[in-house]
Amino acid sequence: MALLQINEPGQSTAPHQHRLAVGIDLGTTNSLVATVRSGIPETLANEAGEHLLSSVVHYNSEGVNQVGTEAKNKAYEDTDNTISSVKRLIGRSYAEVAADTHHYSVCEQDGQAFLKTAAGLKSPVQVSADILSTLKKRAENSLDGELSGAVITVPAYFDDAQRQATKDAARLAGLDVLRLLNEPTAAAVAYGLDQKAEGIHAIYDLGGGTFDISILRLQRGVFEVIATAGDAALGGDDMDHALAEHIAKHADFTDLNNSQLRYLRQMARQIKEDLTEAECVHVDLCPPDLAPVHMSIERPQFDLLVDKLIQKTLMPCRRALRDAGIDKAEIDEVVMVGGSTRVPRVREKVAQFFDCQPHVGIDPDKVVALGAAIQANALVGNKADEELLLLDVTPLSLGIETMGGLVEKVIPRNTAIPVTRAQDFTTFKDGQTAMAIHVLQGERDVVSDCRSLARFELCGIPSMVAGGARIRVTFQVDADGLLTVSATEESTGVHTQVEVKPSYGLGDDMVEKMLKEAMENAEVDMQARRLKEQQVEAKRTLEALDAALAKDGDLLKAEEKALLEQERANLVSLMQGDDNKAIKQGIEALERASRDFVARRMDAGIRAAMQGHSVNEF
Ligand code: ADP
Ligand code: MG
Repeated sequence: MALLQINEPGQSTAPHQHRLAVGIDLGTTNSLVATVRSGIPETLANEAGEHLLSSVVHYNSEGVNQVGTEAKNKAYEDTDNTISSVKRLIGRSYAEVAADTHHYSVCEQDGQAFLKTAAGLKSPVQVSADILSTLKKRAENSLDGELSGAVITVPAYFDDAQRQATKDAARLAGLDVLRLLNEPTAAAVAYGLDQKAEGIHAIYDLGGGTFDISILRLQRGVFEVIATAGDAALGGDDMDHALAEHIAKHADFTDLNNSQLRYLRQMARQIKEDLTEAECVHVDLCPPDLAPVHMSIERPQFDLLVDKLIQKTLMPCRRALRDAGIDKAEIDEVVMVGGSTRVPRVREKVAQFFDCQPHVGIDPDKVVALGAAIQANALVGNKADEELLLLDVTPLSLGIETMGGLVEKVIPRNTAIPVTRAQDFTTFKDGQTAMAIHVLQGERDVVSDCRSLARFELCGIPSMVAGGARIRVTFQVDADGLLTVSATEESTGVHTQVEVKPSYGLGDDMVEKMLKEAMENAEVDMQARRLKEQQVEAKRTLEALDAALAKDGDLLKAEEKALLEQERANLVSLMQGDDNKAIKQGIEALERASRDFVARRMDAGIRAAMQGHSVNEF
């Protein structure tokens, strides 16, 4: 069940024509590509039958040398040219990543982080594009055709710059991005949670080097990420390190050099993965320049080693729940994502924490790619018409500034995207030929309390009386959250538009802060709004009166004019105050005082129009 159906412009398909679309999980450690074949989502393998592609690229003087496992194997001999975990760098400035540790040389150019390789300087976007190209080729080989488009997943906490950079990487790889999808949302889709009426779900994602917890709320078919937390330096790698240390201690190895350490960690990873199936693993290792190691490791020993790490993931879980303002008991389903959630101890501890059995039925390292494939398949129109699609929502309301510094909301927050909404506005002054359009984001009623997104001007409005022009302002938010605002004067078709990025720079914290303020200030805002509205109304009334007096003042007797002037002065002084009720009464008094004058003007107008005509002609 869901709200909206997407028909991307120009992408509606002819019936019975199946379009090739893929979902791509561009991971820190591993990446995958998946598609829906005969209604069933599946990940695609390379010629060697491997589904996971290590997110590692090896460069030589010619350019990209290898991508995947072969590239990973170069890490020992050619560290500087072997780029891994590039997802940690994408879309971030040099200043943001300079303090992190990297196995390769990171340098600065125009504020951006670049990698120094034998093939020259590489940006994280290029490296990601090289990974995506490999997956694209794999998909085209195994599907035997050109791809119509791809859905690419990103962490829920990725900001606009990181999302934009991911999109750029895809474009560089020659992929048509149907949309970016949050990783936890993709996992929920793979489990069909979007088919449920509603619910709150926790997505626990423990990968190779990162941990993410996301709380999603499904409502009327739309997923909303209500909280995210995590640890950017916690994952399966830490388990490998802990196990390698345990082995080194057992074998009395001290002062290990880099290559010995690497060897041990790689072996530890294999042992860890074997311990997922086996209760006990026999180890025979031959570390370089060290005595061979023979030992056996039992599952409970391993559990003890990783308990502290698992415990560390529960802290962000608590934080996410607190941020979401919900209790553990309110979580309906828990979904396990990421290769490290295969570890039995992780499953056990997470089940204990949430007090429910998490979903583990789908391969945890494939689940994100599978969900993305399902979404991609729907987006290119391979699903029956009545099948609907879950979508993201706008985090904050979008609107424009109207007279008196007020904000008129055009798209309220939590509206499913993509969405198009139009609202009509009119000119305020006689003969007004231009209109300034100020686009804002936020929940407050007053412009100064919202975030300004863009300003532009609609010029060339034909000169008409105040209120005569009809200006249609259209807001369009596409599936990636990018907003386009356009304005058209309906009678002449004069048109102008701007593109704005509503989410740019607004972190979750910022969004939350703005929402909180809006709630706390709702009453104050309402008061301010009423006052502003009355002030605008008073101004409009005064301007209309002044225009009428200038034109037809001679229709009034001196004492009538004096009375009008008095009411006028009264309203002008009331307008300076902050009593909206008094202003309203002032407007009404002025209108009462000018009733005769208005009637006389109308009569005069009709007489003028009828001059030289007989009544029958009308
Ligand atoms: P990422 O999302 O960071 O790209 P993945 O979800 O692919 O990472 O997870 C990679 C991690 O999963 C690695 O640390 C790997 O050792 C671990 N992993 C994979 N299979 C198993 C398994 N059978 N048992 C334990 N850990 C595993
Ligand atoms: Mg992942």
